[in-house]
Parts: sequence; C-alpha cells; structure tokens
Amino acid sequence: MILFFGIRPGKTRTVNMSHIKCSHCNQSNTLRGESTPHFFHLFWIPIFRVSTPKVVHCDHCKKGFYEEEFTPEMKRSFEKQN
Ligand SMILES: [Zn+2]
Repeated sequence: MILFFGIRPGKTRTVNMSHIKCSHCNQSNTLRGESTPHFFHLFWIPIFRVSTPKVVHCDHCKKGFYEEEFTPEMKRSFEKQN
C-alpha cells in the first residue's frame, strides 16, 4: 500500500496594515501582511496545521519583513485580524 502524505499550503490570508508606517521607508499605507497556513495532509486531507509563516511586504520600497523583523504594531495587526 502506498501512503500519500506531506505538507501542503492552505489559503493565504491578507492582513490590512494601512495604519502602520513602514519601518524601512517611513511611508504609511504601503504595508501588506500575509500569512499562509501549512497543513500536514494524508491522502490530501488536511490533518493538522504545522506552521503559519507570516510575511509583511511594503509596496513602496519593496522590502519584505519576516516574522523576526516584525515591529510590535505588525504583530498586533496579525493577532487582531486572526
Ligand atoms: Zn517601505
């Protein structure tokens, strides 16, 4: 018997961060947060969530922020809109 299992990404969620200034270029209204849950699946049925990587992009300076670079405001936005 062959078992099909692995990790698959779920639907990306966009978080509104228009009230936060970009810590790189200092523009407001340019930040966009995204989180994509990843699921462990068995025969393409999601069993449990393994991780949810979060990123923030700035549309102005094109900088990408990873979770360890988030400002407290960015973190709060993710928590609020969870
Ligand atoms: Zn920026």
